[in-house]
Amino acid sequence: MPQLWALCLLLASVKALPTAQLNQSCRLTAAETATEPPCSADLNLRHIQLLKRYMRPELDACQDFYAYACGNWGSVHKTGESAMSLSGGRIDQRYVALFERLLHVPRAPEHATPLYTKLLRYYQSCRLLGKPRLRRYLEQLPHIAGNYWADLLAVLGRYGYHEHYVKIEVSQHNASQHMIVVMPHNYYLSLNLSGSIYSALRRHTHGHLPSLKQLTEQFKQLEDTLKEMAQPPKDSSDEETLSLYTLEQLQQELPALNWTHVLQRQLGHVYPGSYQLLADDLPALRQLIDYLNRADARLLQLYSWARFLQHLKQLPHNPLSNPQPSFSSSSAVGCVQHMRKTLYLAMNFAYERNYYGKQREADEQVIFGVFEELKQQFAQQLRLNVLGLNATLLDALLDKVQGLRINVGNLPRNVSDQFYVDCVQHWRVGNDFYENHLNSLLHYYDHLAELERTDDAALREVWFSFNHHGPELLDNIDATPYFYCLGSIIIMPYAYMQLPLYNSQFWPALLYGDLANTLGHEMLHSIDTYFVDYDAQGEMRDYSDQLVQNKNYLKAVNCLNDSEHVMLNERIADISGTRLALNTYMKDPSERRNNGRLYFVQFAQFFCGEEADIYHDTGSKRLNYALAQMPEFAEVFECAQGTPMNPVSRCSFW
Ligand SMILES: [Zn+2]
Repeated sequence: MPQLWALCLLLASVKALPTAQLNQSCRLTAAETATEPPCSADLNLRHIQLLKRYMRPELDACQDFYAYACGNWGSVHKTGESAMSLSGGRIDQRYVALFERLLHVPRAPEHATPLYTKLLRYYQSCRLLGKPRLRRYLEQLPHIAGNYWADLLAVLGRYGYHEHYVKIEVSQHNASQHMIVVMPHNYYLSLNLSGSIYSALRRHTHGHLPSLKQLTEQFKQLEDTLKEMAQPPKDSSDEETLSLYTLEQLQQELPALNWTHVLQRQLGHVYPGSYQLLADDLPALRQLIDYLNRADARLLQLYSWARFLQHLKQLPHNPLSNPQPSFSSSSAVGCVQHMRKTLYLAMNFAYERNYYGKQREADEQVIFGVFEELKQQFAQQLRLNVLGLNATLLDALLDKVQGLRINVGNLPRNVSDQFYVDCVQHWRVGNDFYENHLNSLLHYYDHLAELERTDDAALREVWFSFNHHGPELLDNIDATPYFYCLGSIIIMPYAYMQLPLYNSQFWPALLYGDLANTLGHEMLHSIDTYFVDYDAQGEMRDYSDQLVQNKNYLKAVNCLNDSEHVMLNERIADISGTRLALNTYMKDPSERRNNGRLYFVQFAQFFCGEEADIYHDTGSKRLNYALAQMPEFAEVFECAQGTPMNPVSRCSFW
């Protein structure tokens, strides 16, 4: 009996994904793939077998496509695992294998390259990390004569910390420029004086410290005072108030702080009086600086130290936040995850050289090709102007779509090895984890400061051609493809560039099934309700204000916005991105007949096992909602009208 049941399932799955008529064309030649024939049936059929493992073909695709395509995912993988998380995990394992090999093979050629020896030393210092000793961070800070609050703040700023008192930060401003930004105390964040931070302060001050309770109370009072000064009055509008000032003007407006000195201390450079920077809310800044200049210097210092330690602990994947139970050493994967955040460029370089480089050429040829097709289709659809936008706005959106860029793996393209040699030249690595961690932060933020002020056009072009991730970036950003609004660029991280989502040798149904939908989704983010306001150069415009004046636009938005829990911009990207991919690949009815089922099942892979997060619904909800909006889906799976996947009315958008 069990055999018969298995046979039925097998027959159902064969029917679910018929392979006889599949389009087997390939975008690559044998020379480019080094396999004969390119896009071999073997690779593609093996992948189709994998898809079948995740399916429950006995279920009705028209009732719940997620259950049909991903229903068996949970019995193959653990809860919480998705294609993207598994893919990220594989990359971590490759790094571990690389470092363990280098540790055991002293003659490995990588040892001749300083970048690898630095990475390896960092890895070792992390692996040897024992019981967390937070005060070791404080011991690395340079001595500050006079104990002036602004001097310590500037020193912490060099390590990328800048949330309290007066915020001085270098951040990306548009597609080709960083700016120095000055803002009042960030009153959204506060200190949680934990036992470990308190004991680090106590040791660092040799016990000269009020009790935990007293200090907590003093910090609380300080925070309340700062908040009162930084918070805008209740009746003020929440319009952006950032304005451009020269350093000279800022000094005149806020004379109680020596700005030239503070900037030099934090950013390592003497800026001329004519230098332009952005500042927000000068009255609040003035009040804060006056208060801080009069306040108890010792308390301000302790508070700064405590906030700095809290910040470091909270950086994504700091191994000190998740110490091993035995405190004997850190886990290899934990160290690699920490290093991927902290040493972004060097780690990616190593991955490129040791793993990804071999497939880059074929990948780029395929991906750039699909990207261009989608872009042309996108522009063509926009030109139809179904919403009836005015010509100027339409031109601006077209400009943006045509200017979209893409970066695979997220390193600058076409740079020499010397570029990386120069990059790591001033990065210092020793045997102590705490010292290494701080030095790596220093290296990253020094670089940003340099990038902000450099006039070197060639250098600027390189650094603005990708998105140089900082140590604070959250995991989901470098695990999945995303649209970076300031650079108007789509980043395809390494984690995406592997099975089950992508292979350059996929047949069209598999290739477009995920890649075109993923690219379509990210391309549509460029004009979603949030990011539409950035123009092709990454400058803020008022496009959304103009769009909401348009009745058709509002109608389309309201149709998608059917409940208060919807992340509208994600839903727009899902629906219109899926539409764009279908319009690009599946216009021909015979293509739908022969390849449609496989295309949609491959599309489902990204969503299998995906849980909801603050930006996204669950994979099941996203997949079913997006495909129910596509009549082509109902056609391919022969869904009767009125079934959940073939609703009577649909929404349309871009
Ligand atoms: Zn999205």
